Amino acid sequence: MAYDVQTPLVSAAPSLADLEKRVRDDLACLCYPPANWVAPSAMAAPVHDVVIIGGGMCGLVAGFALIGAGISNIRIFDRNPAGLEGPWMTYARMETLRSPKQLTGPAYGMASLTFRAWFVAQFGNGAWTALDKIPRPMWMEYLRWYRKVLDLPVENNIEVKTILPEGELLRLTLAGDGARETSVLARKVVMATGRDGMGKPIIPGFVADLPQACWAHSSHAIDFAALKGKRVVVVGVGASAVDNAAEALEAGAAEVRHVIRRKQMPTVNKLMGIGSFGFTAAFPQLSDAQRWQIMNYSLRTQTPAPRGSTMRVSRHANAFFHFDAAVEKTRLDGNEIVIEISGGRQVRADFLILGTGFGVDPLARTELEGYADKILLWQDRFTPPAGEENPDLGRFPYLANDFTFLEREPGQAPWLSHIHSFNSGAAASLGKVSGDIPGISEGASWLAREIAAKLYVRDFETYWQRLLDYDTPELRGDEWTASALPDDARASARLQA
Ligand SMILES: Cc1cc2nc3c(=O)[nH]c(=O)nc-3n(C[C@H](O)[C@H](O)[C@H](O)COP(=O)(O)OP(=O)(O)OC[C@H]3O[C@@H](n4cnc5c(N)ncnc54)[C@H](O)[C@@H]3O)c2cc1C
Repeated sequence: MAYDVQTPLVSAAPSLADLEKRVRDDLACLCYPPANWVAPSAMAAPVHDVVIIGGGMCGLVAGFALIGAGISNIRIFDRNPAGLEGPWMTYARMETLRSPKQLTGPAYGMASLTFRAWFVAQFGNGAWTALDKIPRPMWMEYLRWYRKVLDLPVENNIEVKTILPEGELLRLTLAGDGARETSVLARKVVMATGRDGMGKPIIPGFVADLPQACWAHSSHAIDFAALKGKRVVVVGVGASAVDNAAEALEAGAAEVRHVIRRKQMPTVNKLMGIGSFGFTAAFPQLSDAQRWQIMNYSLRTQTPAPRGSTMRVSRHANAFFHFDAAVEKTRLDGNEIVIEISGGRQVRADFLILGTGFGVDPLARTELEGYADKILLWQDRFTPPAGEENPDLGRFPYLANDFTFLEREPGQAPWLSHIHSFNSGAAASLGKVSGDIPGISEGASWLAREIAAKLYVRDFETYWQRLLDYDTPELRGDEWTASALPDDARASARLQA
C-alpha cells in the first residue's frame, strides 16, 4: 500500500476534542508514561535528572522523549511567555513555513500528534487538500496544542543565566518573573536553545559606527509601521532578509533595496532535496572529512529563500535586488545612511536591516561563560583541505554522539560531558536532527536513548544493588514438583522421605 500526502484520512477525527481522545488512547496503548526508573540523588537538596533549557519545538519533543523513556524528574524552562516560544510569533516574518505540510516533525512516531491530524480534525480533508504551505501562526498554534495535549511541564518566563559545575552536578542560575528558585541542580542539561542557541545573530562590523536607531538585525523587534514612506536597505537575500523586505514593503516603505554580496541568486535547496532516512542515520558515522565536505558545501551554496517569500517582495515595483554588491562601510550624512558598496558605488537609505543570519559560536553563549573556551570545536579537530577552509564552520562545537560537548583539553572541564547541545549548533557533528522540523523526532529519540544510558551507567552500582535486592517471585512454588531421574535410587529415597 502506498499513501501520498493528499490521500484523505478515512478516520479523521471529527473535532479537536475527538483527536485529543485519540491521543490519550494512543498514549494509554503505549503505556505512557512508563514508571520513572532513575535512582534519586542521595543529596538533601532537590536534584533534577534533566533540565531542558528552551520550550520551543526541540525542548518539547525532547521532554516528551525523556518522559517516554522513564525519565520524569525533569524541568523545562523558557524565558519567553507561554505560547510565544521560538521565533514564530516574534521575529519570524514569513507568511508560511518553508517546510512541506506533511512533515511529521515533533510527532515522535504518533500519527495522532502530527500537524496533519491536528489540521484535519479542525478543518477537514478538503481543506487539507487545498492547503499549500502551513501558515506561520498556525504552526505556533499547533505547538501550543502539542504541549497542552501531552501535558509537558514547561515553565515560562524563566531565563537560565548560567550553567555552573558543582561537584558531579550542574547548577543553573535562574532569573525572570516565573522563577520560583534562584538556582536549581541538575545531573544533565539539554540546551534546546534554538537557531541562535549556540551562537548569536551575525552583526557585520560595518554598522559599528551607525546609531542603533538606524539599523536592526532581522531577529530584532522592528517597528515596520515607522518605515512607511522610508527608503530601506536590506543586506542579504536569504529567507529572513526577504521576509523583512516584504514586511517593509507591505508597511508602505518608499523603496526596499536588497544589497547582496553574491553574484547570483541561490536557487537550489540542496540539503532539502537529498534528505532521506539514510542521510540522517549515516551523518554522525561519516568521517570528519565527509561531514565537513557536506556542511561546507551546504553553507557555501546557501539555502535560497522560498519562492513564495521572494515573490512577496518582487511583486512590488519599488523592490530591487542588487547582486555583486558587498557592503564595505556605512556612515551617516545628516539623517541619511550612506551605504558604501564594492566598486566605489553607494546607496542612500533611511533604515538598514541586516538579513545576515546567525553564527554558531559557543563563546557567544553567556550560559557557558567562564569555560566556553574549553569546548572542543571543529577547528581544533579538523584541518580542511585547501579550498575548503571555512572559519564559520570551524567554530561549530565538535560534539560526542550524545550531543554533549567534548573538552579541548581532557581534564579541564569534565562537566561538559553533562551538557547536551540540542540545537542547530549540533549540525556539523550530528546532522540536521536538532533544529529544523524534518529530523527533530529522530534527534529527540537519540538524545533520550543516550541520556538514559548515561544515567544508568553513572549509577551502575545502584542498579546492580537493585538487581541483587529484587526478590518478588514470579513462581510461588506450587507450579511444579521435583522428580528424581528414573535410575537415581538415592534421590528417589530422599524424595520419598
Ligand atoms: C525566521 C525563522 C524561520 C524559520 N522557519 C523554519 C521553517 O519553515 N521550517 C523549519 O523546519 N525550521 C524553520 N526555522 C528554524 C526554527 O528555528 C526551528 O525549526 C524551530 O524553531 C526549532 O525549534 P527549537 O526549539 O530548536 O528553537 P526555538 O523554537 O527557537 O526555541 C528555543 C527556545 O529557547 C529559549 N531559550 C533560549 N535560551 C534560553 C535561556 N538561556 N533560558 C531560557 N530560555 C531560553 C527561547 O526563548 C526559545 O523559546 C526557522 C527559523 C527562523 C529564525
